Amino acid sequence: MPKTRYVGRHRPAARPSRGRQIVVPVALLSSTVAAGLVIHDTGTTELNPEAVAMKNVSNAGTGAGVSDPDVLAAATGSRVGARSSRDLAGQARTVIAGATQTATQTAGEAQAAADKAAAAKAAAKAERERAIAAAQRWVSPVSGYSLTSGFGFRWGKMHPAQDLACPVGSSVHALSSGTVVFAGWSTEGYGNFVKIRYWDGTVSWMAHNSRLLVSVGEQVSPGQVVAYSGNTGHSTGPHVHLEIHPEGGAAVPPLPWLAAHGIDL
Ligand SMILES: [Zn+2]
Repeated sequence: MPKTRYVGRHRPAARPSRGRQIVVPVALLSSTVAAGLVIHDTGTTELNPEAVAMKNVSNAGTGAGVSDPDVLAAATGSRVGARSSRDLAGQARTVIAGATQTATQTAGEAQAAADKAAAAKAAAKAERERAIAAAQRWVSPVSGYSLTSGFGFRWGKMHPAQDLACPVGSSVHALSSGTVVFAGWSTEGYGNFVKIRYWDGTVSWMAHNSRLLVSVGEQVSPGQVVAYSGNTGHSTGPHVHLEIHPEGGAAVPPLPWLAAHGIDL
């Protein structure tokens, strides 16, 4: 640091100056002093100590680089801090990307599980529907028959049935799923007689059997053999006398009813 030399008279600062006090701008002062010029004034030439201090500060600020350790440390700290911030941001992006991927995978797995459950549910529903359809199907009461007396008046008397002539011992089937509501000997001429109430409320009467295979209260399935045909009771020949009573009410012509249920006799 160059020594600053002052030319002129100096007086104690406590005493007011008679002449004009010159306050030289720091930049001008710096260049003036550096050039070794002497400032002359008619009165006094005095450099305020504060201006000298300002000059020093100015020189330090405009010098070749910052040497203040605190400033350097602060600047270095800022760079380190900035780097750390970038690192943290990068780590955060990695974490977010990982979390996003995990969330996507989790969502995919959940969707797959949901699809699987839905498929299982649909399969179970289809199976139930197949089981119901199987249980509710209608079948022919007897095979190997010939149609004889039909529904209507016969010999002056109502015959509310369809007679199916067949050899004694032919299998007599339940028409669908249902419950046996009567199985026994009829005192009204039906011989060995069986009545079945089906799932839709329809009741079938099957008469003149040689043998019964079911009892009252028994559950039967479509096509199940419930009796063997015969010629018992008031019968003029081996046959199955079939009556159809919708909802357990009055008998209706069997052939149209059977046809409406997919059975063409
Ligand atoms: Zn009959």
